[in-house]
Amino acid sequence: KKKVIIIGSGIAGLAAAIRLSNQGYEVVVFETNSYPGGKLTEIYENGYRFDCGPSLFTMPQFVETLFEISNKNISGYFDYTKKDVVCNYFYEDGTKFTALSDIHKFAQEAAQIFDVKSDQILKYFKRSKLKYDLTSSLFLEKSLHKLSTYLSKDTLIAIARINSLGINKKLHDQNTEVFKDPRLVQFFDRFATYNGSSPYLTPGIMSMIPHLEQHYGTFFPKGGMHSITKALYQLSVDLGVLFHFDTKVEEILIENNMAVGVIANNNRVSGDIVISNMDVVPTYKKLLPHQKAPGKTLKQPRSSSALIFYWGIKKEFPELDLHNIFFSENYKEEFEHIFEKKDVYKDPTIYVNITAKNEPNDAPKGCENWFVMINVPGNEGQNWDAIIKRSRKQIIEKLTRLLNVPIKDYIETEIILDPRSIETKTQSYQGSLYGSSSNNKFAAFLRHPNFSKKIKNLFFCGGSVHPGGGIPLCLLSGKIVAELIQKEHKH
Ligand code: FAD
Repeated sequence: KKKVIIIGSGIAGLAAAIRLSNQGYEVVVFETNSYPGGKLTEIYENGYRFDCGPSLFTMPQFVETLFEISNKNISGYFDYTKKDVVCNYFYEDGTKFTALSDIHKFAQEAAQIFDVKSDQILKYFKRSKLKYDLTSSLFLEKSLHKLSTYLSKDTLIAIARINSLGINKKLHDQNTEVFKDPRLVQFFDRFATYNGSSPYLTPGIMSMIPHLEQHYGTFFPKGGMHSITKALYQLSVDLGVLFHFDTKVEEILIENNMAVGVIANNNRVSGDIVISNMDVVPTYKKLLPHQKAPGKTLKQPRSSSALIFYWGIKKEFPELDLHNIFFSENYKEEFEHIFEKKDVYKDPTIYVNITAKNEPNDAPKGCENWFVMINVPGNEGQNWDAIIKRSRKQIIEKLTRLLNVPIKDYIETEIILDPRSIETKTQSYQGSLYGSSSNNKFAAFLRHPNFSKKIKNLFFCGGSVHPGGGIPLCLLSGKIVAELIQKEHKH
């Protein structure tokens, strides 16, 4: 049996492990933390449970398929329900909009609240679907960096239609042309943040994201987001994947331009194939110090990071649901702060995620577990302690104003995560959530490929490489890597 070494047990590393194990490889995973999942983990504090990282679960089919190909019944591992209410939106002018999963109800609700006709909304989603259908096979499901990808009919059609897809317009400009109500523009602009980008910079093609949320739906995994990690980890173990926790890989061993193993905890471990699920920037800087790094690729601007307050709140808020957004009054300023000034705006958009709405055991009776997040720039040495102090006050003031409840009085526990701690806990360069940003129309092509062009048997998966960050794309990167390996190593 050929042996595959995977560096990191993030969601993409787990997906690659499951797939390669099914393909007949011996798979060994080295993980520097004492637990699997990378960014997809959980914490407990004073009777509260919090999902630490991702909170929005879309496209569950990419998880399901891992059980199908393994001939395992998913029900013993993982369960999830569809959400009827996708997200509550609060605006400073007092507008409250509840986004519903049923597209017709969504359009009706939007027509009542915003200056828009429901048909306009349905038309927007139709275009959004078209963009996804035309480009997903090219940009998401295959390696963008292999010639064979370009020889398919789908790809040629997508390339021919690239202008009509909104590559040359910014998302915000495109949304402003379609909708005249600035609140609705802000609503559709927000989808740029799903991959850590700015709606004022990212191309209009990103308007395919609302289609994914609306068409495929949003889901809640029973037991919280961390159940995804637990299920995929358990599946890997059942398939015979060997995990070494508390084991940091220090170097990838290269001989004759070929990956031949790793050094982990000072031990030399040989393997036929090495896959890095570590962020690609530190993979080159730390694990491949003697190799020439692809400078341009690694210099791509990073996606945003996050400042998160995990608050135990001793009160229940019936007006809130699992996902809640409290919009900034000046979205443009907010994004200029994040991506140009590399600072945090005084009136940030606040995202509050409360899993206790679906999983009452996540908080003591009568209480709620609030995951309170704002988008912030990556860590470039800013004075985070000062930013945290200032932002905490501004967040509490804003939530108090919009919910009309003195939030401060109800916070009974607090844990804080900032770009520095995201970086130390997951090795994510600058603490970015989604690898490099999509603030550039060439971003998809500038992401690192899923393989090394110079070193044989060295592959990459995870949010910092093709096709990008977020759980669905990370799971796809695991798939692409497994397929590339299968092709190159017919055994
Ligand atoms: P990571 O999770 O980055 O894990 C990499 C693993 O490699 C880590 O476990 C690390 O310890 C290990 N490692 C690194 N270096 C070494 C080494 N040298 N030796 C051994 N092990 C090593 N996505 C969504 O889909 N929806 C969301 O709502 C969402 N929200 C997010 C909110 C936050 C706060 C964060 C942080 C992320 C969010 N994301 C969201 C993004 C999503 O979490 C990531 O894209 C995804 O989890 C990244 O997975 P990955 O496979 O790239 O690996």
